This record gives sequence, C-alpha cells and structure tokens, in this order.
Amino acid sequence: MKVNAGGVAERAAEVRDGSLAWGSMAAQALEAHGTWERGAAPLNAFIAVDANADRQRGPRDGPLAGIPVAVKDNLATAGFPTTCGSRILEEFRSPYEATAVRRLRGAGAVIVGKTNMDEFAMGSSTENSAFGPTRNPWHAERVPGGSSGGSAAAVAAGIVPVAVGSDTGGSVRQPASFCGVVGIKPTYGRVSRYGLVAFASSLDQVGALGRTVRDAATLLEVLSGHDPRDATSVNRRVPPLTAACERGVRGLVVGVPREYFPAGLDPVVRRLAEHALGALEGAGAELREVSLPHTRYAIPAYYIIAPAEASSNLARYDGVRFGRRCREADTTERLYELSRSEGFGTEVKRRILLGTYALSAGYYDAYYGRAQEARAAVARDFERTFGDGVDVLFTPTAPTPAFKLGERVHDPYQMYLSDVFTVTANLAGVPAMSVPIGLAEGLPVGGQLMAAHWREDTLLTAAAALEAELGTVGSPPVPSGAGAE
Ligand code: GLN
Repeated sequence: MKVNAGGVAERAAEVRDGSLAWGSMAAQALEAHGTWERGAAPLNAFIAVDANADRQRGPRDGPLAGIPVAVKDNLATAGFPTTCGSRILEEFRSPYEATAVRRLRGAGAVIVGKTNMDEFAMGSSTENSAFGPTRNPWHAERVPGGSSGGSAAAVAAGIVPVAVGSDTGGSVRQPASFCGVVGIKPTYGRVSRYGLVAFASSLDQVGALGRTVRDAATLLEVLSGHDPRDATSVNRRVPPLTAACERGVRGLVVGVPREYFPAGLDPVVRRLAEHALGALEGAGAELREVSLPHTRYAIPAYYIIAPAEASSNLARYDGVRFGRRCREADTTERLYELSRSEGFGTEVKRRILLGTYALSAGYYDAYYGRAQEARAAVARDFERTFGDGVDVLFTPTAPTPAFKLGERVHDPYQMYLSDVFTVTANLAGVPAMSVPIGLAEGLPVGGQLMAAHWREDTLLTAAAALEAELGTVGSPPVPSGAGAE
C-alpha cells in the first residue's frame, strides 16, 4: 500500500484517531525523496527539504493532520529559505510566513520542503530555475512543465500526496497536465496571496495540486478563505469543495470552445480531449459548442500585462533592502546595477525589459492600454458564455504533452505558447483546473475545466466525474529500491 498516494482526508482521519502514527507519512516522503535523488536521473524537485520533517509537530485534530505537503519556493515559509528559484533571494530568510502556509500548519500539515520553480515563476518548464531544472518523473529527458514544476513532480513521483503552487498564467495547470496530476487555480481572491512573492499581482493566485481530484479539493478547502492581510482577498463563503466531488454531472452543461481546438493541435491531445468529452456526455452532461472569439488576443495581452507588473514588482530587489548585494560596487548606481545583473537570470531580465518598455511614456497607451482592452474582451467572452447557461468549459490544458529538456529554452515564443489555453482564466480571474485524461506514448495529458467566478464547486464536480469515468493515469515507475511502496 502506498502511504503517500491519495486519500488525504482518510489518512488524516487515521492520524486523528491514532491508528496512523503522526510522523509516518512525513518519514515516507523523506524516504521517497531520497530514493528519487539517489536514482540515475535525480528529479531535483526540491530547493530545500526538512530532513527532520517527521519530527515537526502540529495540531492533531486538523483536516490535514500528519499529511506531508510540499510548498512552492515563492511562498514565505518560516524555517526554510524562500528563494523564488533566484540567485537574488538565495540567502533570503523570510521573517514572516505566508497565509497559505499558516493555514496548512493550522490544519496539521507537515511542510516537508520547498519546491523548485522557474525563477520568479516566469516560465513553463522549470528550466529557468537558478538551482537547475526539475525532471519529469514520467520521463527523465522531459520537462515537468512550469513554473510549479517542482510541486507537480513531487506529487507525480509519490513523494507527497498534495502540494501548493502558484498560477499567474497556467503555472499550476500546465505542470499538472505534464506530470499526470490534478491542479487547480481558484478564482482570483479566493486564496490569500499574503506572503506569495509577487510576480504579476493582478493575475497571481495560489493553487493546489494533488494525486486525485478529492485530494486537491481537500487542500484547496484548507487554503481558501478571507484574509484581512491581503487587500485582494474576498470575504465570501467557501462552498463545501470535497462534497462537490460527489455530486455527479447529470444535466450539467459543458461548453466546448472551438478556439481551444485549433487545426494545429497535437493529434493525440485532440483524441484524448474528445474521448474525455465523450466520457462527460456518457455520465449525463450536455455538450454544447461555444465560441470565445477574443481568445487569440490572450497571449499577446498576457505578455504585456505580466511583464509590466513584474517590472514594477521586481524593482524592490535593489541590493539594498534585502536579497543579494554586490560587494564590489563603489557607487549606489553600480550597486543596483551589479546586484541585479548578478542576481537575475535571462528570462527575468527579458521580462523586466519588456515590461519597462511597455510602461514607458509614449508607449503606455499603445501597449499597456491596448492589452487592458484585450483583457476586458477576454473576460467578457467568459461572462457571456457562463451567462448563457454553460456551467463549465472543457479544453485541453496544453497544446502538447511534456516537451524535451532544452527544446524551447532558446525560443521564448515557443515557450510562451505552451500557456495558450491557460492564460485566459487568469486574465478573466475565473477558476480553472487540469485533470489527467490519458497517456500519449507514456506521457500524461491533461484536460482543462473552467467555470464562472466562485464556482470551484462546479469545477470539482465535473473533474471528479471525469476522473471516475477515465480513471487516473497511475504513477510513473519509481527508481528501484523505492521507499514509496
Ligand atoms: N508560463 C507563464 C509565464 O511564464 C505563466 C507562469 C505562471 O503562471 N507563473 O509567465
């Protein structure tokens, strides 16, 4: 029996009633992590691990009692580094803790480690980490997706049953798709971003990854809720999310937006997506073809808005207040210049340049203003569709399965296009998730569900039905001598 696979709610119940020892699952997580790292192709899913995680103590009565959880390294966590995958924050120790992390601890979760990520969450492959790329547990030469690639790989590898990520343009859903796990980005405002290192503040959301739909729902339930420390957090009741998994899709209207099934879509992805739609119909859902005509403006708008906000958010890394400081600088100007030059990687610098340019006087209206208009048009497409009686939209999560390590690092545009189906939900602020829908030559493929604002419950209903119909994609083979069995 796999101690760290699935059934988080049941395992926590066993810890609460004393039939499962508090530290046992954390000990297994550490063992499984060691097994992967000692194997022929180390995953490098973690930037930091607490070697004594099995001795962490927390409340025994919580919904995640004794459950080992991995946290993306852009969430401020006491007792761990918070590097954001960047040299500039390599030595940084946060004096406070993110609300998401505090909620985890309050629920009894054990934080086993901080996961690898693209630097400042900019990327789609986890190759932009200053601490080396993470591998896909299904195939050592493939990327796990990004930017929450470490969290997705840690779940897929059976190290932890659930993990926390962040999603600005797809960074929870796309790696979930590539790694064959479930990933959900909630409605903007549902989960506090206090202590999440800012990338693009109007798009960033903390999200949940899990082996199964129910596990992801259990985690999201713990993370959700109002936080007075985050001005964008909304004071709204959280519907029962785990209960929503039991509802069934009979009568649910599933919209199929034609813009998400373009002629160039990978044929295997198309076949698996169509098969998944058939399964939803078989379970009693009604399929309806719809159009979201402004979808094609989403990538261009996103790659103006996200870098613009990033260029402003990242101005705080100046070598003075916190983070890396260049010791050789003889003037203040040089101090800024050298600290930032040494501390940031190529993609982060590219985004700062793009964003600063887009916001500069004379270009602001032509770029940023236009991008905001496109964003509003994308959001109206969703409003109209959900207003017309569509409960949930189904699309592929990404246009292809996991690509090869190194394949897109020198072609940023190709890299950006792997988010073509996911950025729309961030621009509109609606909740969206990825569920495994099958394997393409041994590589997982995910299907995306999107719903109206605050309807995470509908998403989970549809996702649980899909999972019940299609089954999970299983787990990748663990290197020999594995500790997860
Ligand atoms: N891949 C997208 C980007 O590079 C999205 C990243 C994210 O969601 N954090 O910006």
